[in-house]
Amino acid sequence: MQQLCYGLDIGGSKMELAIFNDQLALQQKWRVSTPTRHYGDFLATVVAQVEQADRLSGHKARVGIALPGVLREDHTVISSNVPCLTGQQVAADLAALLKRPVAIGNDCRCFALSEAIAGAGKGQNKVLGYILGTGAGGGFCLNGQLLAGRLAGEYGHMALSAKVALQHQLPLYPCGCGLTGCVEPYISGSGLARLYQHYSQTAGNSHDWLSAYRAGEPAAQTTFAVYLDALAAHLASLVLALEPDSIVLGGGISQIPELLEALPAVMQQHLFAGASVPPLFGAEGGDASGVRGAAILALQLSAPSTGQC
Ligand SMILES: [Zn+2]
Repeated sequence: MQQLCYGLDIGGSKMELAIFNDQLALQQKWRVSTPTRHYGDFLATVVAQVEQADRLSGHKARVGIALPGVLREDHTVISSNVPCLTGQQVAADLAALLKRPVAIGNDCRCFALSEAIAGAGKGQNKVLGYILGTGAGGGFCLNGQLLAGRLAGEYGHMALSAKVALQHQLPLYPCGCGLTGCVEPYISGSGLARLYQHYSQTAGNSHDWLSAYRAGEPAAQTTFAVYLDALAAHLASLVLALEPDSIVLGGGISQIPELLEALPAVMQQHLFAGASVPPLFGAEGGDASGVRGAAILALQLSAPSTGQC
């Protein structure tokens, strides 16, 4: 009998549950609103979705959860998008309610796992997955397993390259994590808009930037070059740390073909002779990567207990 698994992707407004078979083929999926204020309501909503999945599939499958946030050492969660989860042992509480193993992981790590096993990085031993969206973060997979740990993948909170900051005389922006000078406020989607505002002296967002860039506006061209330099320096440092076989980029920024095309040559400028840039790909899984990665986490659970990444 084939083994099913459920992936659950928790967002700030919606949560999606998807049923997969053991070949990671999607069987069914649906979305409901995420209760964000009351933890009891959140738990009840998840339990209702999982029980619905049980009825539809005729199984009682394992559950993997992807959510934006940090997992603490005591297995509690810090989540800014779903405030009622902060301080709660979400996986353990759901495992007790659902009477089955529950795995939990950061959504960027789930993205990386999904792309490494079933997406653009499939077949590679060492895959770096990176989401450039609202924030900036990813995960590293070695032989189909995520590099374990609570913080491994919080790349967006590494420092902006000093060379890039000095060369372009960039202001030091505060980061949402409480530090200053993290790379995330420069390379996330909102970071791109921030740089465009800096150079154009307008209130333009990333869509305004893209239109202006394609129209040849000088401030938008400068923004492109500086953004690319900051991102390339950052990814080059990750190449030195991890030496991935391939890098898979996801999130809104990765859907700008001009950026993906220009990135390898600029990355090469940040690497010494003999160090080469690995192949770069856009994600294949699209919006489904988080929920598929969560399901893989559930499949990879070996012991009948809770797990996290
Ligand atoms: Zn930060």
